[in-house]
Amino acid sequence: MINTYLQYGVPSCIANDLSEKGVPVTTFRTTSANNLESKYGIDPRIIQIVKPLITRQPIDEAVVTTLLERSNFTCCCCKGVKSNSYIIHHIEEYSESQDNSYSNLVVLCPACHDLAHRGPGLTNVLTTEQILRNKENWDKQVEKQNAEAAARSGKINDADYLNIPRIAELSNSLIDQLPQTSLSDVLLIKDILSSYGQHIDEKGLGVGLSDGGHSIRVQHHFLRVFQSLLHRLNFVNLDDLLNKGSLSRPDFIGTFCFYIGGLIGKGITWPYTPGNLMSRLYLRRKGFYCEWLIDPKYITSSTSSDRLSGRSVFLVYGRIKSVGKKTLNNKKHIAIDIRPYAIGTPTATINRTPNIAYIKAAEYMLDYDGEEDSNETSAASIIVSP
Ligand SMILES: [Zn+2]
Ligand SMILES: [Zn+2]
Repeated sequence: MINTYLQYGVPSCIANDLSEKGVPVTTFRTTSANNLESKYGIDPRIIQIVKPLITRQPIDEAVVTTLLERSNFTCCCCKGVKSNSYIIHHIEEYSESQDNSYSNLVVLCPACHDLAHRGPGLTNVLTTEQILRNKENWDKQVEKQNAEAAARSGKINDADYLNIPRIAELSNSLIDQLPQTSLSDVLLIKDILSSYGQHIDEKGLGVGLSDGGHSIRVQHHFLRVFQSLLHRLNFVNLDDLLNKGSLSRPDFIGTFCFYIGGLIGKGITWPYTPGNLMSRLYLRRKGFYCEWLIDPKYITSSTSSDRLSGRSVFLVYGRIKSVGKKTLNNKKHIAIDIRPYAIGTPTATINRTPNIAYIKAAEYMLDYDGEEDSNETSAASIIVSP
């Protein structure tokens, strides 16, 4: 019922109130002001606000949902500082435009909404340009926060890579033994785990991880183990570490970090044989070169191998091993070596695109700084869905 009111641009606090009173929009519309007041105890000022709004064409429900989710139910101008109530506001006024599309709508709090409706010439006016800029910036900030929250709580689709010994070691260092999962018993019976996993029989892992039922159980078990450890550790977004200030921190080496975004994979061979060499995932951005070494033994499937061989969007959990220097195409880079625990597809991504031009968009999406080894395809040739 709340959403129905929101579709008409009714402020959320009023929508809440009316829904608590059990007055649906249809009743509100067909009931006289006098009866709304006497029968339902609705304040005449509220009646005055709501009556004209519900004569409009309602905003599509899906548009309302998207708007609210993308803004985290929060005013994009003050970010919820002035009020946690919100209104869906038409950037070009409804009376002029009747435009209920996503691009013409924005989530504002009542205070900022007042500023948006002040006529030009008055002080403290929120201009259309300011509102549009705030909306775009806030959408991205919310998207980043949501993706970070998902990463910190271990939400990952399909692990492409799981370094099981490293996960076991981490677990041992934190809680003395591997946490039990619903698969522990099966793995114990099969002798793949011993005594609730203090040791892992390497033979039990098979050659590579993707060759059979045991391996899939092993993967699921260790992914769950890793997820259960996340809340014990402070995983930092790598985006927030790629700056001089972070580098100078004494505890930089050893920092647990996750990265969400495009990476380039190189040197994968499949299927695994003991002679296979290490491959890597990397990114180059603003003078930094970050690299995650991939032990081919722990790639989870041939599909994963394909994904890890090219450019894809990943969620990577790792720990900073070392920092050095690297010259690439005559350009000096700060090289960060990160040892990965788990790599997979993120459930939520971060849009780093500053809306400029199409080709720029492709570069940013892939965290590609425009120069590459000669055998790489150019970023401009990559198809990016709009
Ligand atoms: Zn506000
Ligand atoms: Zn408005």
